[in-house]
Amino acid sequence: MGKKKVPLSKAGYSEEEILREAAKIMRSKQTAPNPKKLSACPKCGNLYGVAEMRTHKPKCKGKLTAGAAIKRS
Ligand SMILES: [Zn+2]
Repeated sequence: MGKKKVPLSKAGYSEEEILREAAKIMRSKQTAPNPKKLSACPKCGNLYGVAEMRTHKPKCKGKLTAGAAIKRS
């Protein structure tokens, strides 16, 4: 709580360790894209990211493709 951020290099980590950790984080981000950022188009049910959805929505013809639509009662 209220702890000041200390640069990793001053927190006992060597530069090599920091670079190794950074590479690990970047690799995991590449292999596992965040699925939370995808949302289903209310018209066609396809999944789009936020920016994609913005450009897709006005163009969407609202065609429900088989399997993409989740029926709600
Ligand atoms: Zn759509």
